[in-house]
Amino acid sequence: MSELCCTVRPNFRVVVAEIDSQPYDPKVTVNPRSPFVLDTRELGRRPGLSRTYERPMAAPAQLGLDMIGVPEGSPMALTVRIESVTEGVLATGSVTAELRGECGRCLIGFTDALEVDFVELFAYPNSLTEKTTDEDEVSRLEGDHLDLEPVVRDVVVLSLPLTPLCQADCAGLCSDCGERLDDLPADHTHTQLDPRWAALAERFGEASSESHRDTRSETRSDTQP
Ligand SMILES: [Zn+2]
Ligand SMILES: [Zn+2]
Repeated sequence: MSELCCTVRPNFRVVVAEIDSQPYDPKVTVNPRSPFVLDTRELGRRPGLSRTYERPMAAPAQLGLDMIGVPEGSPMALTVRIESVTEGVLATGSVTAELRGECGRCLIGFTDALEVDFVELFAYPNSLTEKTTDEDEVSRLEGDHLDLEPVVRDVVVLSLPLTPLCQADCAGLCSDCGERLDDLPADHTHTQLDPRWAALAERFGEASSESHRDTRSETRSDTQP
């Protein structure tokens, strides 16, 4: 990935925290020390009780897609309100993170900010919801803990574009010289010599395929879009 350009927010504080560099595996049981895990014993089970948590953290590994994602270890914040409901615990929250991507048109690296919201019910063990739904439909409490990591991963990944762009109107690359069109003057063009003249031009030491804006040549000119 090439160097970053565009807006890098200078005041973004890097939270140095212990992060698990193990690849994420949802089958592993809840790690109570994970910043994504909340202990609902602090909440109580009477419907209507609620608590709010603010969790600054370092982003976990492999959060994103190939071309764009949240860099591992970059600062990220989770804000979540959990509320006891009859069938379980309802978590409503948002995630803010830094994104780093590679433009699908001009291939430069760029950064962006991400903010996504989520709402997720975590069913109590043995609740009617738990008995009548599948685990991949409705999340479960694991003992007294709820793990927001799978939820956060889903909302982050679903919010990412399949073709990331450095800016919405990125013009891409010049198909002749491969330079980034947004870095070139607006009238950038290549004059193609008629093949019949090319041999002659070569003999006189001119570039045969690429003579930039050579007004002397009276051959057809292919202006690039
Ligand atoms: Zn671009
Ligand atoms: Zn060009």
